Amino acid sequence: MTSAAKAGGRPRRISILGATGSIGQNTIDLIAREPEAYEVVAVTGARNIAQLAGDAIALRAEIAVTADEAALPDLRAALEGTGIAAAAGQSALTEAASRPADWVMSAIVGAAGLAPGLAALSGGATLALANKESLVTAGPLLMATARAHDAHVLPVDSEHSAVFQALTGEDMGAVERIIITASGGAFRDWPAEALAGATVQDASTHPNWDMGQRITIDSASMFNKSLELIETKEFFGIAPENIEVLVHPESLIHALVGFVDGAMMAHVGAPDMRHAIGYALHWPERRALPVQRLDLGAIGQLNFAPPDPTRYRALVLARQVMETGGHAGAAFNAAKERSLDGFIAGEIGFLQMAEIVEATLEALSGHEDFTSAVDRLDTVAQMDHLARRTAAKLISERIRG
Ligand code: NDP
Repeated sequence: MTSAAKAGGRPRRISILGATGSIGQNTIDLIAREPEAYEVVAVTGARNIAQLAGDAIALRAEIAVTADEAALPDLRAALEGTGIAAAAGQSALTEAASRPADWVMSAIVGAAGLAPGLAALSGGATLALANKESLVTAGPLLMATARAHDAHVLPVDSEHSAVFQALTGEDMGAVERIIITASGGAFRDWPAEALAGATVQDASTHPNWDMGQRITIDSASMFNKSLELIETKEFFGIAPENIEVLVHPESLIHALVGFVDGAMMAHVGAPDMRHAIGYALHWPERRALPVQRLDLGAIGQLNFAPPDPTRYRALVLARQVMETGGHAGAAFNAAKERSLDGFIAGEIGFLQMAEIVEATLEALSGHEDFTSAVDRLDTVAQMDHLARRTAAKLISERIRG
């Protein structure tokens, strides 16, 4: 059965949120290989207008949307005469995401991906979720929205796609633990005492994966893995104490699932995001993908080590957030995003990101919504706003000394 046949013989209607980014471009690479199978509804971006317009034209999308309202004239100019609609701003992003579609890729970076993802699910689309921040900030709300609209959420993060695949045909009741692997990021071989002096440039190169800058820096600090711990809890509904992180420098085993009989199912594959994207694109089928085939004989050995909690404070904080539940995830993510902005802008050092996040969580722990159930977008947005403001204040206090 082809993708087209799955949508009742017509091309599948798909949208790509965050089309100009690393995940978005990998998604486009896959769908462009089979153009007759897809009808592209919306593509979205933010600052990269040339890419956004070029992709919209190549994919013959109905609408292109930029998050950046100031960029709308440029987008309109680039699309003039093509018949493709152009729009800008948060509400335009959400409107585009809610247009009838069979499948929507959620690949906006950061908490900005939440509202468009919820809009896609409310329209009944299958949501391919790369935007892990949606689950970290509002996991219960996202999953409840999917259930209410009989819509699927499919993981695109490589670890979660790996777990999802290992669980095919299995009963969650027979799962004892989930182990997600971490490469260790740019600094895995650095001595701990050198981390304080790490620069943005140092942190922006990943040893195995080619990704956007923000997630690459988050990999170096393990904030990415800490978001993934929370993502695992929210997506699979597993208790935090049954989720483990394992450092695996080769990034070939993406995750393992341990069952009650002692068996472990590992997902092994090349570090290429088109694998997880393609799995979500073709699910529930498994189809051929243009990714490297591994020669394990030539690779020879795979290495594993437990993460050092004294080196990776972010992992400790993520465990606290999972225990707290409620809006702690929204506060954690927003403080992390603001601290990352601060690191990229040279306001704070690499290790200070975790310090700011920890101090923000502490400052907000008494807030009435900190532990309350996550069932509304507005309370998530309020906690996000508050945490950004708190983190910004803490950063400026540190700058002033
Ligand atoms: P990139 O930074 O490469 O791309 C981000 C996308 O979001 C771009 O299209 C960007 O537009 C757009 N964008 C940026 N800011 C906003 C905003 N405020 N509102 C709306 N759109 C915005 O990120 P990645 O592709 O690396 O990551 C995307 C998501 O996928 C993240 O949540 C990440 O954690 C997750 N992920 C990524 C992986 C990877 O391999 N890259 C692996 C697993 C998960 P523009 O570029 O035009 O400014």
